[in-house]
Amino acid sequence: DNPIQRKPEWIRVRAPNSPEYAETKRLMRELKLTTVCEEAACPNIGECWKQKHATFMIMGETCTRACAFCNVATGKPGALNPHEPANIAEAVGKLGLDHVVVTSVDRDDLDDGGAGHFAEVITALHRSAPATTVEILTPDFMRKPGAIETVVASRPDVFNHNLETVPRLYPTIRPGARYFTSLRLLSRVKEIDPAMFTKSGLMVGLGETREEILQVMDDLRAADVDFLTIGQYLQPTPKHAALDRFWTPAEFSELAQMARAKGFLMVSSSPLTRSSYHAGDDFARLRAA
Ligand code: SF4
Ligand code: SF4
Repeated sequence: DNPIQRKPEWIRVRAPNSPEYAETKRLMRELKLTTVCEEAACPNIGECWKQKHATFMIMGETCTRACAFCNVATGKPGALNPHEPANIAEAVGKLGLDHVVVTSVDRDDLDDGGAGHFAEVITALHRSAPATTVEILTPDFMRKPGAIETVVASRPDVFNHNLETVPRLYPTIRPGARYFTSLRLLSRVKEIDPAMFTKSGLMVGLGETREEILQVMDDLRAADVDFLTIGQYLQPTPKHAALDRFWTPAEFSELAQMARAKGFLMVSSSPLTRSSYHAGDDFARLRAA
């Protein structure tokens, strides 16, 4: 028995009922696009979609991995949609996005892990909306030689890959992944293109300690990672990894302070922070500074 813990008052979720929300949803259906906002049952969807900030999830709705915290379905994915890059470019134009975040399921079944498809999406966006900055949140491309290089060559503005949790919890929370593979991906991006912004994120509430989080921050800084996001894990269903506890807003603020002191250029740490939450606002602020 694994009852879902009652949410504290600081995890407030507004009902998604604005006209902009309805319009965003309609557009996604029309262009046959998937969003992580919906697939991950993100608590911010009402707020984000009111501003038409949707985060695209490419390469299907079925993932080859089965992370214990994740609401995305696991299984054997279908073929890639060759129209997806053009459809995303069209959606970004219609939504009027200054900054777009594109993520994906893991595609361990593909020879390049989906790197080529990512590059096509980025290229299509640069072509159709040259002023829109592109942030990607990629799989770890484990055992996919050349994949990171392919994606970097298509020149995203921000390359994000989430470590998600502390190394001790990898075997239970990210069983298909390896902590050092993910860290290595981030340092490799910087090796190939030192001017490219890199970003990573963590969830708290899975049983990690404050000291373990501070160590992960040090590892990320050693890999020259620029941006960090930290948010509260919310158990999507009773079948997912059990919630250990809710970190308080004061604890999130303290983690943000520590992260800034360690030299991250941009830090977002709050209960409802997600990789893509206010990503465009934060990036615009950084570029203006
Ligand atoms: Fe979508 Fe990200 Fe906003 Fe959640 S925080 S609704 S995933 S854009
Ligand atoms: Fe979810 Fe990503 Fe893990 Fe797949 S790889 S199960 S989409 S977190």
